[in-house]
Amino acid sequence: MRPARALIDLAALRHNYRLARARHGASALAVIKANAYGHGAVRCARALAAEADGFAVAFLDEALELRAAGITQPILLLEGVFDAVELADAARHDVWLAVHHEAQLRMIETTPLAAPLHAWLKVNSGMNRAGFVGPAVATAWQRLQASGKVRETTLMTHFARADEPQAITTAEQIERFDAATRGLNGARSLANSAAILGWPQACRDWARPGILLYGADPMPGEANGLQAVMTLESAVMAVREIEPGQALGYGGRFVAERRTRVGLVAMGYADGYPRSVPDGTQVAVDGQPSRLIGRVSMDMLTVDLSDLPAAGIGSRIELWGRQVPVNDVAAAAGTIAYELLCNVKRVRLDYRE
Ligand SMILES: *Cc1c(COP(=O)(O)O)cnc(C)c1O
Repeated sequence: MRPARALIDLAALRHNYRLARARHGASALAVIKANAYGHGAVRCARALAAEADGFAVAFLDEALELRAAGITQPILLLEGVFDAVELADAARHDVWLAVHHEAQLRMIETTPLAAPLHAWLKVNSGMNRAGFVGPAVATAWQRLQASGKVRETTLMTHFARADEPQAITTAEQIERFDAATRGLNGARSLANSAAILGWPQACRDWARPGILLYGADPMPGEANGLQAVMTLESAVMAVREIEPGQALGYGGRFVAERRTRVGLVAMGYADGYPRSVPDGTQVAVDGQPSRLIGRVSMDMLTVDLSDLPAAGIGSRIELWGRQVPVNDVAAAAGTIAYELLCNVKRVRLDYRE
């Protein structure tokens, strides 16, 4: 069997959820959109079902997959619904929904529903992507009440720069949110992962932790006690030596300066490992630090075994996980851990309880 796999540590997921909830000091929806950031939404939801206050996904199909798998906790749609059919389905399956623009509000007013909704009214406090602004928030809130179809309204907003401790825009967003929602009844939800860790003023009734559940620190540098949930790993399938001056792989990007022992690894960009990383990107070989050399191919990549004489065919290669932080690989690839984790595909997911 091809040795490429993502090992998912569900105990680490639970540890991180508890940490998020404790840091926030109130309820927390575990954000498991995009197949739980590549970790498998149904398995992650089941692993958290006994303790999570609820879950959040992006859209209805993601929620219905969880309902079909027997998940009975609250589920919030962060994008809300796209049409009246979805709205009726969301009500029938008791799925909570974000309401972030006029068309969604009108849909609620005009669609007959089997059960009253729990709406999450989204306030645009400065990210300028979605939500109602200023006095339009109170108007939308009143229209939800007047529709007779809403049993509860939670007030939410989302931060553009919560991962930057110095950015005053987060404090400004909190102020705008508080001003726009003053006097309106309902729970408040502001904090994503970075705000849970860095902005205690944003910790209100409901947190929405995503990336930190998976152990990728949104504010790298602090010791936050998170545990990596996914270990992306494979093994060496062949070894060869190349001479000084010989080039390795596509484009001949890596040229050996000395006799180099090259390990060929069953993992490529079709598995979600980023093609954009440079020579020197860290990997671990049987627990020893080493480096990627040569371009990443679709199905294979190559690592330097020159200083690891004991390593050979069958040696375990960690691409990211406990030992190699996914944040570091993401930085080497010029992206963020979110994108790498979501892009994992084709490899099998093996779960550890
Ligand atoms: C994805 C998402 C989150 C989770 O964000 P993290 O940075 O992963 O914690 C929270 N809220 C909203 C609205 C989102 O879309």
